[in-house]
Amino acid sequence: KTTIALLLFFVFPIAPHVRAGNPGGDAMRVETLLKNMTLEEKIGQLNQYSNTFDVTGPAQTEAADRQRLQRVRDGLVGSLLNVCGAEETRKAQRLAVEHSRLGIPMLFAFDVIHGYRTMFPIPLGEAASWDLAAIELSARIAATEAAAAGLHWTFAPMVDVTRDARWGRVMEGAGEDPYLHAVIAAARVRGFQGEDLEATDTVAACAKHFAAYGFAEAGRDYNTVDISEHTLRNAVLPPFQAAVEAGVATVMNSFNDIDGVPTTASELLQRGILKGEWGFQGFVISDWNSIGELVPHGVAVDLRQAALLAMTAGSDMDMESSAYVNHLVDLVRSGVVPEALIDDAVRRVLTLKSRLGLFEDPYRYCDAQREKKLLFSPKHRAAARDVARKSIVLLENRNHLLPLDKTKGSIAVIGPLAADKDVPLGNWRAKAIAGSAVSLLEGIQAAVGDGVAVRHAQGAPLGLGPGNFMNEMVLNHGDRSGFAQAIEAARQAETVVMAIGEEAFQTGEGRSQVDIRLKGVQMDLLKAVLEVNPRVVVVLMNGRPLVLDWMADKVPAIVEAWHLGSEAGHAIADVLFGDYNPSGKLPMSFPRHVGQLPLYYNHKKTGRPDPLPDDMVFWSHYTDERNTPRYPFGYGLSYTTFSYSQVTVSAAEIGFADELRVHTTVTNTGARAGTEIVQLYVRDLVGSVTRPVRELKGFQKVRLAPGASRKVTFTLDAKALAFYTRGKKWQAEPGEFLVFVGPNSRDLREARFTLREPHGPKPG
Ligand code: BGC
Repeated sequence: KTTIALLLFFVFPIAPHVRAGNPGGDAMRVETLLKNMTLEEKIGQLNQYSNTFDVTGPAQTEAADRQRLQRVRDGLVGSLLNVCGAEETRKAQRLAVEHSRLGIPMLFAFDVIHGYRTMFPIPLGEAASWDLAAIELSARIAATEAAAAGLHWTFAPMVDVTRDARWGRVMEGAGEDPYLHAVIAAARVRGFQGEDLEATDTVAACAKHFAAYGFAEAGRDYNTVDISEHTLRNAVLPPFQAAVEAGVATVMNSFNDIDGVPTTASELLQRGILKGEWGFQGFVISDWNSIGELVPHGVAVDLRQAALLAMTAGSDMDMESSAYVNHLVDLVRSGVVPEALIDDAVRRVLTLKSRLGLFEDPYRYCDAQREKKLLFSPKHRAAARDVARKSIVLLENRNHLLPLDKTKGSIAVIGPLAADKDVPLGNWRAKAIAGSAVSLLEGIQAAVGDGVAVRHAQGAPLGLGPGNFMNEMVLNHGDRSGFAQAIEAARQAETVVMAIGEEAFQTGEGRSQVDIRLKGVQMDLLKAVLEVNPRVVVVLMNGRPLVLDWMADKVPAIVEAWHLGSEAGHAIADVLFGDYNPSGKLPMSFPRHVGQLPLYYNHKKTGRPDPLPDDMVFWSHYTDERNTPRYPFGYGLSYTTFSYSQVTVSAAEIGFADELRVHTTVTNTGARAGTEIVQLYVRDLVGSVTRPVRELKGFQKVRLAPGASRKVTFTLDAKALAFYTRGKKWQAEPGEFLVFVGPNSRDLREARFTLREPHGPKPG
């Protein structure tokens, strides 16, 4: 072992030409290593285990765990997940590097979804900022902290487009729109991976879950997916492709099937589209035991066949199922799996290790000093506060109840989440310290002067404790013992700020719900409070779009504050008192009723006229509810108002090589400075296939002083108009288009233009 390691370091000394910026250098190193590896060692590189065993402590582990530990020493584990911390990763790394024959370092992976110790808003909330620079910065900081804790790799961003708020995992993505999702996916990849993966403040990113996991039937997690190629190509794949184009190092497959084939066994998706069409050079990691799940899916008789299917399909690394490490050697030796497939997968894994600089120094990420200095630093928290306030969406503000005065008056801060220091951290909170968020109450107390009396009463508990698996049984459906005190506090105060919503673990993996109204006694408490004091500001803390029922009509002010992370309370107070003028816009429609789901703005027309009025029997509609959402995609208010001029286009007709400019003038017509997210949508009037009524194609964040106007210009070209056609090509089709500009997906001004026939053969 020592001889080979020495040889490697001699042939490839620590020199700039073999570092990450030099793909040729990585390739040379990887090829030499590959030649020296046994088949067992190669397959070991494709094996990932979770830290279910104590790799660092004394061996008091169970037999299975001891076997895993031994496999690390034998060089049969390429990566560990869930081992975190500079010292812990160093100890674990030592086992592989100092004991195995070739001393190949392991990759340490973890779900760093919206922060490592400093928590940023949950991804869905952060997407409401539509602020790519802020989103990139949040991923940058998450990577800086994670890398300081010895990690090389995060299983983020999740880029699953989803149209169903029942699905618990909506909190992890950027909502319902492919375009918004794509630009955010790219920003997150850039943030995690930085300029150069070799830098010790970056981590490799992972676009997941490939693909269509967000289309689980009936919004039930892990359920079957039945999706057309048309929807897959047009709505689901664009964010993945954007992540690949942004250089994402890895992609994770998913638990679901498509067209009867679990994605883990899908050659079409992994070898065909991802590695073939898109030329993806990184590697595919299975989802947790998704190779093992090929057996219960009923497409493999046993783990051996599962390994065969997954490897053939292009799943490079096996998370947790042991299918590869237990069966691939035999499958290759018996001639069933060509060794070239293994080599290709191993090459991809080793290349990432080389790009991360791990062959030069396997411990380069394990720096306890750096870890201590960086985690939860004041600088990181300040950035988290900034992103958090940009993520808040003002849903209602009747009679200008907001912003509140912070110099005088009295406020009753009530509700199950008012003083909660844990829920704002959200699900997938990595290594956040439990209870480390600034509560709303603390945020308000810190913001107001001595002239404001603040009184707190919880009113009712939500009923779930941190870490609890979501379970209807433990929700508070009956405890009204705190109502009287809360009602009294509300009666005595000038204004009520009431924090209600969802517990942190009510959304996330395995947390699907059939009912997305507020749970427990929260609406009862709200009703009782409104009866004694109509000046109520509801602050919602939740991980999915909710059905707000009568609240949306009856409560004067509603602030959507998601699970905003470590600085939640400060960020919300910034908005409540007008230190920050809210600018967020919804990345997902809020339905009126759960029965409308799946509900999304970029739906198709039907063969019937648009459903107006709603009661015409033959039009596509319900007899007991409107078709429209309660709050549409892209919606959000400000403390000021903006007006939009007519939309104009630079030409009535453009060719395939031309650019069209779309102009509008936005004016701040209110009395405060504010930021508007100006949105551009397009509708292709006639296509070879049915086309959405409108699709987001661009947006700009515009900050305007009171009374100020700005001409906003968007550019469109044939590339932006392209889609997956009936001829199975990604291209634009000539014809007439509507172009819309406005403050949300429903309130739009429009213009028309034509895309001329291209010269030469007709596309499609
Ligand atoms: C989830 C993935 C996650 C993995 C590792 C799986 O159950 O679906 O999103 O990255 O676990 O924690």
